[in-house]
Order: sequence, then C-alpha cells, then structure tokens
Amino acid sequence: MNENIKRAAEDIVKAGKKKVLALTGAGMSVESSIPPFRGKGGLWEKFNPEEYAHIDTFRKDPGKSWSMLKDLLDVILKAEPNPGHYGLAELEKMGYLSCVITQNVDGLHQRSGNREVVEFHGNNQWVICLDCHKRYEIATVFPLQEIPPRCKDCGGNKLKPDAIFFGEMIPPEALSRSEQEANNCKVLLSIGTSAVVYPAANMPEIAKWNGATVIEINPEKTPFTFQISDYIIEETVGHAMPQIIAEIKKLTG
Ligand code: NAD
Ligand code: ZN
Repeated sequence: MNENIKRAAEDIVKAGKKKVLALTGAGMSVESSIPPFRGKGGLWEKFNPEEYAHIDTFRKDPGKSWSMLKDLLDVILKAEPNPGHYGLAELEKMGYLSCVITQNVDGLHQRSGNREVVEFHGNNQWVICLDCHKRYEIATVFPLQEIPPRCKDCGGNKLKPDAIFFGEMIPPEALSRSEQEANNCKVLLSIGTSAVVYPAANMPEIAKWNGATVIEINPEKTPFTFQISDYIIEETVGHAMPQIIAEIKKLTG
C-alpha cells in the first residue's frame, strides 16, 4: 500500500472530530465519467468553457452557451457518485469531516450523502430566468425542447443554470464560510484540483498558514505539491479514499 495513505489516516485521526476539511475539483468526478476541463477527450475539446460558459457570451447569445450546456448536462445528469464521493460521505458520518468545499457543479457530494457542502460555483440542479427571475428545476427544461430553452412564465430566452459562469462573482456566503473552515481545520484534503482557479485555491494556503496539514489526492503533481502540500497521495480519489477509510477504521477499532 501507498505509505501516504496510512499517514493520511493517522493525520485525520490525530486531527480529531470536525477538524478535517476537503476541497474538491473536477478530478473528484472523473471516475464518475465527467471529464475535467484540462483532461484529454470529451466535451472540452469541442467547447472552450471560458468562452461558452462566460456570462457575457450567455447575455449576448444564450443559444451559444446552451449548445455546450446541452452536452454538459447530458453528462452530469447521468453521472453517479464514485467510491471517492462515498468515502468523503463516510468521513463526515464518522465525525471527522467538517465540510466539503467543492468547485464542482454536479451535485454528486450531496447525492453520495454529504450534508455539509459548500458549492463555490453553484450547481446545475436549477435554472433562473434572467428576465423575470423565476427559478425552475432543471428537469422542467431538460431534455431541451428548443435551444435556447424559453421561460414558461415570461417567454424570455435567458434561462441560466444556477451555476457560476466565468465573469460572475463567487457567492459571498460560500466564500466567507470556506475561509472560516480553512482557518479552523487541522487537516485539509485537496482532492482532484489543479489548484490554479482562485479564490478556491486560497483555501489550502489559509489552512497551511494556520498550521494545518495539507494532503493532496491527485494522480498528478500540481503547483501546490511541495510548496503548500505536506505530501501527495499520487492515486485517483476513487482508489485512495476507500483505503484511507479502511485505515482509519483499523486505527480506531
Ligand atoms: P482542475 O484542473 O482543477 O481538475 C483537474 C485535476 O484533477 C487535475 O489536477 C488532475 O490531475 C486531477 N485528476 C484527474 N483525475 C483524477 C482522479 N481520478 N482523482 C483525483 N484527481 C484527479 O479543474 P478543471 O478541469 O480545470 O476545472 C476548472 C473548474 O471547472 C473547476 O471549478 C471545476 O470544479 C469546474 N468543473 C467542474 C466539473 C464538475 O462539476 N464535475 C467538471 C469540469 C470542470
Ligand atoms: Zn422569465
């Protein structure tokens, strides 16, 4: 077994109840068949998300954004949580995990059973009409009848998923809760994130300044590795997380 898996289990147990924080990125859901932006294959070779999912593009030409959203929602709405998600849900049930801060918009942490989830970038379970501000469940417009879909109330064509687009602000309450959690934790698990998207990438830095142990779970090294992280478990999260849980159980009987 990877030595760092044992070490992570020991650090989590030592940290104590509600002292572990997880920060997750697109890599968390790769084993649920949702490709990351920078990954090979799939969606993002067809669409540059920074263009198609930019708020200015959406306001000018919602149909262009929806041509990407259609494919993205198709993938996201079919996805199921993977063993990594279930491991984090178990870590919360055991009492160690205070919260998951996620940059993902797929809702898979809640689906796997985590209750304390901060969504930095919102999610795709709802759409909001930018004209009349009515909110609909995604299931009421998806699968799409037309592109872009129309608001059933006012007939406008600016139904936007309740996720944060490029060029939009992070919800202030998500940001302040995350900073508070990062200040409070003794262990931060940075999972499947390349640590280049701010302000999410600030959280491991805040935790580190406050003396927390920062552990990465990522099959590839990131800008954090050796600068911010204390160590990295170079495996996929679906492989690493169940082993960490098993080790914690061994340690705690
Ligand atoms: P990113 O670059 O931070 O994520 C990819 C990282 O995950 C890489 O470092 C990669 O090495 C790692 N990774 C790949 N497979 C992994 C696995 N099985 N286990 C652990 N780590 C793995 O993120 P991005 O793709 O540039 O996305 C940028 C933003 O877009 C983020 O906010 C992200 O959350 C969001 N996004 C969300 C989803 C989703 O909701 N599932 C999908 C794509 C992008
Ligand atoms: Zn409307």
